Parts: sequence; C-alpha cells; structure tokens
Amino acid sequence: MDSAAVPTARPRPEGWCDWSWQMRQRIRSVEELEVWIEPTPDEREAVARLADRFHFVITPYYASLMDARDPDCPIRRQVVPRLAELRDPAGLADPLDEVAHSPVKNLIRVYPDRLAFCVNNECALYCRFCLRKRMVGEPDWAMRRRELEVAIEWIRRTPEIRDVLLTGGDPLVFSDERLDWLLTELRAIPHVEILRLGTRLPVTLPFRITDALCRVLERHHPIWVNTHFNHPKELTEEAAEACDRLTRAGIPVGNQSVLLRGINDDVATMKALCEQLVRLRVRPYYCYQAQLLEGTAHFRVPIEEGVALFRALRGRTSGFAIPQYVLDTPYGKVPLSHPYLRGRDGDDVVVEAWDGRLWREPNPR
Ligand code: SF4
Repeated sequence: MDSAAVPTARPRPEGWCDWSWQMRQRIRSVEELEVWIEPTPDEREAVARLADRFHFVITPYYASLMDARDPDCPIRRQVVPRLAELRDPAGLADPLDEVAHSPVKNLIRVYPDRLAFCVNNECALYCRFCLRKRMVGEPDWAMRRRELEVAIEWIRRTPEIRDVLLTGGDPLVFSDERLDWLLTELRAIPHVEILRLGTRLPVTLPFRITDALCRVLERHHPIWVNTHFNHPKELTEEAAEACDRLTRAGIPVGNQSVLLRGINDDVATMKALCEQLVRLRVRPYYCYQAQLLEGTAHFRVPIEEGVALFRALRGRTSGFAIPQYVLDTPYGKVPLSHPYLRGRDGDDVVVEAWDGRLWREPNPR
C-alpha cells in the first residue's frame, strides 16, 4: 500500500456503533488491515505465517485506535501478529494446566469453592498474549447448548461451588437471550452465591454494552464484572460510556491487566492507566505477570521489574488505584509480594500458593 494513502481521518461508516455490525466487519487479512495501518514487512509475514497457529481478528473499533505509522503503538502490538511469536522455544500451550483441572468440558476448578466456566470460545478480537490461545477461536472448544447444560448440571451437583466466573473466550459475545438463559440457569442453583463475568468487550467492542444487555445483567444480581484494559489509549469516550452503563446497572467493575513489555511496563503508563480507571469507577484489581505461554516471550517482563514498578506506585497514588501484582499458577493466583514471593533460584522465581505449595516459575532475568 502506498503510505500516502493511509487515511488520517478514520472512517466511521454507518453501523459503526452497532456491535453486531462491528463483529461482521472484523479485520481478518493484511488487505483489510491496510485500511487502518501501514503494516511492516514483519507484520505482513507474521499474518501469513501465523494464520494456522493463532487467529488474527480485530474489530474496526479497536483498529481505529491503532497508530497507522508506529509499529510500536501499544494498541497495535496487542493484536497485530509479529514474527517474534515464532521465536519462543520455552512457551507452553497450557501453562496453567487448565485441561488437567477440568472436571467436565470447559469448567476449570483450581480452588474448592470457585470455578471458571469457559462458556464461549469466541472473542471480539484475539489478543496476541491470550492465555487461552489454545482454545479461543477454535471450533473444538465451542460450547453447544447440550455441553453448557452438562456443565451447569455439574455445578448443580457440586454444593461447595459458591462463586462462578463466566469467561471464555468472552461471555458477552453471546446474544442477550443466550446470556439470560445461562444466568437464569446458574442463578437457580441455591449454592451459587456470586456470578462474575470476565469480558474484554468494554475495551475492544464497547458498543456491546447496551442498555438492553445491562437490563439482562441487572436481573441476575449479584453480578460482578472484570474487564481488561492494558493501556490508557484504550480508555476512550466509548469505553468510558460502556463502563458507566455497567456501574449504573449496579455492577461493580474491576480491571485485570497483564504486564506487557513495551506496552505498560513503565511507571508513568501504569499510573496513568490506573488513575484513569479509578476516575471511571473501575477498580484496578489485578495486574498479571505474563505467563510462560507459547509465542509470547517478547511480552514477558522479569518479575523483579514488575515488583519494582508496583513498588514505585506505592505512596504516589491512591492505594485503591494500585492493582495487586499476581502470578497465576496451576495452584492458583499468588501475589508477587511478601510473604508469597519466596525468592530466586537460578532462572526460576519461587512462590508459595495459598495452600502452602511451592511453585517455580521460569523467569530469566
Ligand atoms: S479478549 Fe481475553 S480471552 Fe479473548 S483473546 Fe483477548 S485475552 Fe484472550
């Protein structure tokens, strides 16, 4: 593409604010990407070579946030493939061993009283650092109605479960009707006290957070939502309105980001992100250490650097604007702070899980 042809005023065609239009118009090829950015030779080759490894899909809305000429744009780096994804010999497909923690398809139980229910294999777009890249966009992980019913029945027969996180993929990609049915079924289980939704749609497709959706969610309180902003550039007017609609519906909204090299691993960016989230009444909840996940070595930050970053925020902003920096492990989430962070052993960092088990996380300096 001739670089002079890159549009400076981004197109906002009719239908732009309709979430189903955005889903239909998603970018899936280099040619479609060229409407928004000047892809580098690396990005072009990566789109072609990674096509069968991990899906490449971007909503026009999220694409409109990308810097057309800067390959290091923090939005662009999250969703446009790079050849660096092919240079990660240590990365694993399932670093949290989630398959081994599944009593039935797409239920993941790590703790006695909580579970993650991957109700959907689809997202509005696919983040290059996604922990579930083995399953998102993959037809084998789709949940048909019968499979959802099997999982719901397992929860019904397991009275220790009091807290269910609907995740995926993204549960809000479901239609309002399907989501209403699912929440009604779960709400009818007496021992399920809390329903949580993990969704990135306020970030990647904020038009999905309609008044009609909020009315569905309100019917099933207590509902909590955790979303996933990684950079202040994602906090647009549209995203702010989506968060506002959720909070007005009585839903506490938290944010879970991932610490990503070159995207949010500096104090100024993380501070701006967290302070702007708080202004939107979104609580910075967790910031995850990036996992030892296939194709993501270029995103990982040494744990010591992450610890130093969050230490630098202490005393310099409101306490509730500072998320807890955590490592997810097959034994559960572990805060990367005293007394859980036990120290270094060579190229590993040793942490202690909630139940006293020790986990060694490979984390080269
Ligand atoms: S939205 Fe979440 S589940 Fe979907 S690809 Fe991104 S990180 Fe993965």
